[in-house]
Amino acid sequence: FLHLLTELMTRRVLKFTFFLNRHQVLRINAESEEHIQLLKELEDDEGWELDFWTHPASTDLPVDVHVPFASLHAVKDFLQAHKIPFHVMINNLQELLDEEQEGLELSAMQERNARSFNFGAYHTLDTIYSWMDTLVAAHPNLVSKVQIGTTYENRPMYVLKFSTGGNKRPAIWIDAGIHSREWVSTASAVWMADKMAKDYGVDPSVTSLLGQMDVYLSIVTNPDGYAFTHTSDRMWRKTRSVNPGSVCRGVDPNRNWDAGFGGPGASKNPCSDSYHGPLAHSEIEVKNVVDLVQSHGNFKAFISIHAYSQLLMYPYGYSCTSVPHQAELDSVGRSAVQALSSLYGTTYKVGSICKIIYQASGGSIDWSYDVGIKYSFAFELRDTGRYGFLLPANQIIPTASETWLGLKHIMEYVRDHPY
Ligand SMILES: [Zn+2]
Repeated sequence: FLHLLTELMTRRVLKFTFFLNRHQVLRINAESEEHIQLLKELEDDEGWELDFWTHPASTDLPVDVHVPFASLHAVKDFLQAHKIPFHVMINNLQELLDEEQEGLELSAMQERNARSFNFGAYHTLDTIYSWMDTLVAAHPNLVSKVQIGTTYENRPMYVLKFSTGGNKRPAIWIDAGIHSREWVSTASAVWMADKMAKDYGVDPSVTSLLGQMDVYLSIVTNPDGYAFTHTSDRMWRKTRSVNPGSVCRGVDPNRNWDAGFGGPGASKNPCSDSYHGPLAHSEIEVKNVVDLVQSHGNFKAFISIHAYSQLLMYPYGYSCTSVPHQAELDSVGRSAVQALSSLYGTTYKVGSICKIIYQASGGSIDWSYDVGIKYSFAFELRDTGRYGFLLPANQIIPTASETWLGLKHIMEYVRDHPY
């Protein structure tokens, strides 16, 4: 045991070398349009190496910013000088990271010993991929693993297909983890895949759904980015493609879709975390999904799962005008959130992307809606900022369980409202 512990500690130090030590996450509460403008200037300033977890858009929403230790004084001085209220939300990012990493490795060790899979733990890409095989083996007549292509770094991209037969039945698309640092999205998708497989033939709702429709679930939609969050930078959000002429890598895969591409709420700077890329669908990971959805041709719902902020959103992001089905999507969203909240009382806001967060172009559900998939939704899972992207593993199962109720509500509605 001592040997294992030493090995574990060495590996941890090698992996993360404390490079986020004394980094803080500040929660900033803008009180005026002037404050918003100042925060936007801060966001465009590369010198301080700020990492905006949420973006300045309106006085209704707090802005969470990850600030490197070297910039802390300057940023706090700036905020104080302009009388912009803020407080320290995460005092030392490295401490949360260390706890997360310890938990992950401890559970990996226990899983190896017990030869079991812990749904209440975060996992590496390899572990998730081999777990998929376990799930398929346990439910061979229901679940299959479909490779939809490879990633920029040549990893396979897998989707779990839930089907009880038929040929190109009406289908539901669900993707998680397109932003790699949003770990709870991926972990929840793992739990929900298992839940859906186990509930078929037991839960009448799931049984009738899968009797009529197929479900395609992409658990890790940005595999290169996800692997990178485990080996090098836990805060990585984008793909890992090389940007010619820039030292910065990666494209924001949720600004890369052919829907208002290159418009407001996406950056043309390759170093930005919301860089839209050189052209729509330039990212192979996005292209693989687009190709699957288009060649299939019978998707009736498209649901993307992100974290954090506790929101259920529908199109558009690229425009603030209402979509033709606004009233229906809003009412489906509201009842889905009611189902979600019934479990633990977790509160969610519902609305169009543009209206409840900010204008953001090139997003996946705007694309799906515009190609005719009416029931297009995006979730932002827990929390509302206490831990942000570093949601403790003991919240995975509660998060997944409540999300499943909301998701199931949407899927039932789609099943009962064919078009
Ligand atoms: Zn996201």
